[in-house]
Amino acid sequence: MTGTIVLSQTHFSSLPNNQPYSIELCNSFNEKRWLCLLKRCNSMEEFKQVHAHVLKCGIFFDTFCMSNLVATCALTKWGSMDYACSIFTQIDEPSSFDYNTMIRGNVNDMKLEEALLLYVDMIERGVEPDKFTYPFVLKACSLLGVVDEGIQVHGHVFKMGLEGDVIVQNSLINMYGKCGEIKNACDVFNGMDEKSVASWSAIIGAHACVEMWNECLMLLGKMSSEGRCRVEESTLVNVLSACTHLGSPDLGKCIHGILLRNISELNVVVKTSLIDMYVKSGCLEKGLRVFKNMSEKNRYSYTVMISGLAIHGRGKEALKVFSEMIEEGLAPDDVVYVGVFSACSHAGLVEEGLQCFKSMQFEHKIEPTVQHYGCMVDLLGRFGMLKEAYELIKSMSIKPNDVIWRSLLSACKVHHNLEIGKIAAENLFMLNQNNSGDYLVLANMYAKAQKWDDVAKIRTKLAERNLVQTPGFSLIEAKRKVYKFVSQDKSIPQWNIIYEMIHQMEWQLKFEGYIPDTSQVLLDVDDEEKKERLKFHSQKLAIAFGLIHTSEGSPLRITRNLRMCSDCHTYTKYISMIYEREITVRDRLRFHHFKNGSCSCKDYW
Ligand code: ZN
Ligand code: ZN
Repeated sequence: MTGTIVLSQTHFSSLPNNQPYSIELCNSFNEKRWLCLLKRCNSMEEFKQVHAHVLKCGIFFDTFCMSNLVATCALTKWGSMDYACSIFTQIDEPSSFDYNTMIRGNVNDMKLEEALLLYVDMIERGVEPDKFTYPFVLKACSLLGVVDEGIQVHGHVFKMGLEGDVIVQNSLINMYGKCGEIKNACDVFNGMDEKSVASWSAIIGAHACVEMWNECLMLLGKMSSEGRCRVEESTLVNVLSACTHLGSPDLGKCIHGILLRNISELNVVVKTSLIDMYVKSGCLEKGLRVFKNMSEKNRYSYTVMISGLAIHGRGKEALKVFSEMIEEGLAPDDVVYVGVFSACSHAGLVEEGLQCFKSMQFEHKIEPTVQHYGCMVDLLGRFGMLKEAYELIKSMSIKPNDVIWRSLLSACKVHHNLEIGKIAAENLFMLNQNNSGDYLVLANMYAKAQKWDDVAKIRTKLAERNLVQTPGFSLIEAKRKVYKFVSQDKSIPQWNIIYEMIHQMEWQLKFEGYIPDTSQVLLDVDDEEKKERLKFHSQKLAIAFGLIHTSEGSPLRITRNLRMCSDCHTYTKYISMIYEREITVRDRLRFHHFKNGSCSCKDYW
């Protein structure tokens, strides 16, 4: 039944001495047929049959055959890394191809430590890594966030003389970027003789990872000035998120233009990032237009649009989009419900919110998460239903987190309910969040209730725990550049001009009836000092700057890291009327659109 066949030499050129290779096989074994069978495998079961055949025929010591088995098992969708590993260990002298296969398979399977161990094994056994080894080893390092190992691997790259390979260099940039080592990433990038589109994407992505958004935009400018007109969609998604973070719609519009010029049909992901950029930069209408013109929408596009409408306080429209989504036959998930509830919350739609909360659980069988409860507490709290909000928290099957207690606390502040407010604050302090803002909200409530002893106690606690308040800042875009302002900042260029502008503005504001709300300043200083402090809040500096540096009548767009104080809110309303400017302010949670002396939030936020 058995015979001897001589297999073609070409397949075995990696074998010692390049000797013609003969093996004993059962008659039924035919290499071509065998490869064909292997390629046609569609499941582990079929694969195991082919493997069994190999074992039966006694060719399991054949390197070519084993490499093919490992590669098929490790790299196919239905394959199993464990099984591939068991075949791999039977190979006497695995080649770099085999190692690469195994490393790649493990990385794709997110078995990252295993991938690195295989690499170590490879080096120890004297198998030489090549340019196909490093992209995956570096990817493992970046996903594990192990920069020290990454640096070692970088050393090996030099040793192997692969430091000039573009793909390896791009992987190094990616790795350093993901590990937050932006300087190293830049060093690799700057040292490249030739940069591919992927290299630019990698360096822009690296800056996005460490949230250096201005640099992202600068690099995009450099990229196009160097004649790189073909821009990868993924790069533009990174840059769009830079615009989103900086609240820079003008730059976003430029990128939209680049996209339209370069890519004939934008995919759903890019269009959805465009919507996200527009709505988060305050251009809701533009976002809506992109959304309406999309021929294909997925759940993510709907979610972005619903949350976008929510933060602009357009609750009813958000609910309309939500019902369109359901009509489209897309089943809602827990994420879209967060948008739905926050839409109800920002627009004060209590009944609709409660209704959706019910149908989520009973109709769509989605268990409420901490985030959902957070939104509901916020919704009830805003409406002054503080007892109901507190009852809901008590009824939760999961442990309430700091966000939930914080929204109850801030609702209590708005509705002057010191009793429940104290409960919320105590729970917050028990969670050991050490957030100075929480202490300050409670202090503020005590101050309003004229309980100065309690205010003093909280101040002592803050000092004892060495809690510093997060410094507030505001960003404003003028002439396609983004400027940052910190409260009381005098280090900004031309500060004296800005401060002079503030004085002029205040003179006009007072004439119109503005009275500074000094209760926002929790310092034990006299009233005049308090007024001085209020005057130079970062948002006011940004507005003054915007009024000086933009043309008359054009809108101002400000992004800030903290919630705005009520004095800045009143102040901005007056400014919008006196200077006839539309002012959009985005804080961590929502947008305020100021126009003709009033705000879209209807003073409720
Ligand atoms: Zn303020
Ligand atoms: Zn407002």
